[in-house]
Amino acid sequence: MSKNVLVLPGDGIGPEIVAQARRVLELVNQQDSLDLQLTEALVGGAAIDAHGVPLPEATLDAARAADAILLGAVGGPKWDTNPDFQIRPEKGLLGIRSSLGLFGNLRPAILYPQLAHASSLKPEIVSGLDILIVRELTGGIYFGQPRGVRLKEGNVREGYNTYVYDENEIRRIGRVAFEAARARNKRLCSVDKANVLEVTVLWREVMEELSKEYPDVELSHMYVDNAAMQLVRAPKQFDVMVTGNMFGDILSDAAAMLTGSIGMLPSASLDVDGKGMYEPCHGSAPDIAGQNMANPLATILSVAMMLRYSLNAGETADRIEAAVSQVLDQNLRTGDIWSEGMQKVSTTEMGDAVIAALQA
Ligand code: NAD
Repeated sequence: MSKNVLVLPGDGIGPEIVAQARRVLELVNQQDSLDLQLTEALVGGAAIDAHGVPLPEATLDAARAADAILLGAVGGPKWDTNPDFQIRPEKGLLGIRSSLGLFGNLRPAILYPQLAHASSLKPEIVSGLDILIVRELTGGIYFGQPRGVRLKEGNVREGYNTYVYDENEIRRIGRVAFEAARARNKRLCSVDKANVLEVTVLWREVMEELSKEYPDVELSHMYVDNAAMQLVRAPKQFDVMVTGNMFGDILSDAAAMLTGSIGMLPSASLDVDGKGMYEPCHGSAPDIAGQNMANPLATILSVAMMLRYSLNAGETADRIEAAVSQVLDQNLRTGDIWSEGMQKVSTTEMGDAVIAALQA
């Protein structure tokens, strides 16, 4: 039976990198007879320009109807300063995540051996790095109510947000993380701030309760400040990390940087049934947009994750990942991962090389 993939190019470099990922998806669709139907829609700043809102109803309906969603990135200086937060590009993403219940964010940080020198850390500290960060995506302080900026006594402005998780939300993301750890090296580190925040005291308790169902997985706990320190001191100690929305946002970017380029890292956001939205970890990179120099590999690797987690095509996913590795072996590099002796290529040339590797 045919499956629907919704493609959302977004803003900035989004359309450029998604174009390459789409070529890859169309090729493997044909090569492996996957029977995928691709449709495209607007989100983020592009949707604000066309329809006045970052998530038009038609896009949300298409997202609901799709079996999987491939997203580029949203945002840019043109829209990022709108005083009305509802008309900002990221509201488009947050809206899809919350409307579709995409609560489980998987962010791998894998260091390709070919890029060991591109990391800001010494090669011996990062070489062979393979971490999976599982971040809760639809709750916590990014969504908690009440929130806002108010005037308090003395005409003083006060900003406030609410950090809240109930035990079901914690258990749900905990299960995703324990299952992921079980399929990997069976070590799970839960990151919290239980010495200060009650909500994470509960987080820790629920993770402990869950661990009884997963006796084969070794559970440890770490405060978020220490986790940030350990990620840059000795990152290979981690296998799977699980944490809430805000801590995960920050730690996963730090982990991404360990790998040398955020332009190499895919991510998945899943619902309870495995339907998901797939996107590179980076943003819309307005500084290089329209110049055909962005790295499309994170988006191409997001296609591989999509095939594996939502479209039941694990072997095709393996082929795409092997093609990316092959292209790196050929010393082809976009500017973000380029170093002396390597051949600098454009976004489209990198796409061409992956296509050629898949056709070989
Ligand atoms: P960014 O990730 O867009 O860029 C950070 C740096 O990394 C820039 O120097 C950029 O040129 C570089 N970079 C990012 N992706 C690259 C790629 N594929 N190839 C080569 N270089 C790459 O983060 P930012 O500058 O903080 O944000 C820019 C915009 O993106 C903002 O509007 C922000 O809101 C938005 N953003 C969107 C998402 C998303 O759509 N999921 C995530 C983060 C930021």
